[in-house]
Amino acid sequence: MDERLLRLTEQTPGFLPAAEGLALHRAAVTAGSLGPLLEIGSYCGLSALYLGSAARAVGSVLFSIDHHRGSEEHQPGEAYHDPQLIDAVGRVDTLPAFRRTIERAQLEQWVVPVVAASAVVARHWRTPLGLVFIDGGHSQDSADADYAGWAGHLAPGGVLAIHDVFPNPDDGGRPPYVIYERALADGFVEQAVEGSLRLLRRPARGRSRRPQRIP
Ligand code: MG
Repeated sequence: MDERLLRLTEQTPGFLPAAEGLALHRAAVTAGSLGPLLEIGSYCGLSALYLGSAARAVGSVLFSIDHHRGSEEHQPGEAYHDPQLIDAVGRVDTLPAFRRTIERAQLEQWVVPVVAASAVVARHWRTPLGLVFIDGGHSQDSADADYAGWAGHLAPGGVLAIHDVFPNPDDGGRPPYVIYERALADGFVEQAVEGSLRLLRRPARGRSRRPQRIP
């Protein structure tokens, strides 16, 4: 990560501590040779700075999926609502902030915003991916759909990154932890842990010790 982008991460709203962002960046630089990078949950572009700079470094691209209407916890009256992220008719809209972040970072060539529900895109996706970062809605339905929709699109050896994994229920919600456990049961192998970030590798074909149940 160059200094200019690191400074920009400090000015960008989001929920990804720097140590986790840098771990994600390093994993993406390695996995980027296997295929494009994809994240679910763009918000204002903080994680896209780390992943987009990795895409630039290895000549790849980041697809950043978000409906940009905010997760449950971003809605008015909820714990993580930001009144600055409201459109002219009072709805949450994080797309303008996301585009400003990517423009300021000069990463527009390497970061492709996909404004949609992730499950819709997953159904029509065909390209094997080097890295998938799941950081979308935190309801069980959203986490399940993101895992079911995207884990199987990883290239063999590709990295599945999951954010907000808290083994202790007192530290945070269950759904990301539940899909992390499911990934392990499906044969993914843990590569690294940084804060609440888990980095798992999809086994190369024929080398899994467990039967593959990846959708
Ligand atoms: Mg998160």
